[in-house]
Amino acid sequence: MIPESLKKLYAKHKIVVLLILAAIAFLCLAHAAFRAIFPPAPPPHIETFKCVSCGDVKELVIPDIHNTSERCKKCGNRYGYVYKCLDCSYEFGVVPPDIKPWTVNKYQMMDAWKNATNCPTCKSENTQRVTGQDLKAKKAN
Ligand SMILES: [Zn+2]
Ligand SMILES: [Zn+2]
Repeated sequence: MIPESLKKLYAKHKIVVLLILAAIAFLCLAHAAFRAIFPPAPPPHIETFKCVSCGDVKELVIPDIHNTSERCKKCGNRYGYVYKCLDCSYEFGVVPPDIKPWTVNKYQMMDAWKNATNCPTCKSENTQRVTGQDLKAKKAN
């Protein structure tokens, strides 16, 4: 279905209309080619973090938790990953140990992780990382 006015326009200015159509087609192709060469950057990965001292929960883009200036707006402390104690249900922020794996042996590494992820209230080792999706699912229930 081509509107009557467009038909008239086409009859009068054939070349102009064809040129415009060609230009649009060219732009589409150019755009596709550009996108093929420079694909759009992937969306930033948003992770849910928890302040290690006041427990404030926030969604942030932090590529490296040890190398970020992001601090809690409420208390000024740093954010950690959300962990939950499976024994007492306490949720807390955990900053993973900043240890270069090649500077320690396997057992020292495991100890450092255990110390960081033990429940601060009941000292249980039975804790689990909680992601933002888990938290959202919990809220929805
Ligand atoms: Zn805080
Ligand atoms: Zn606990």
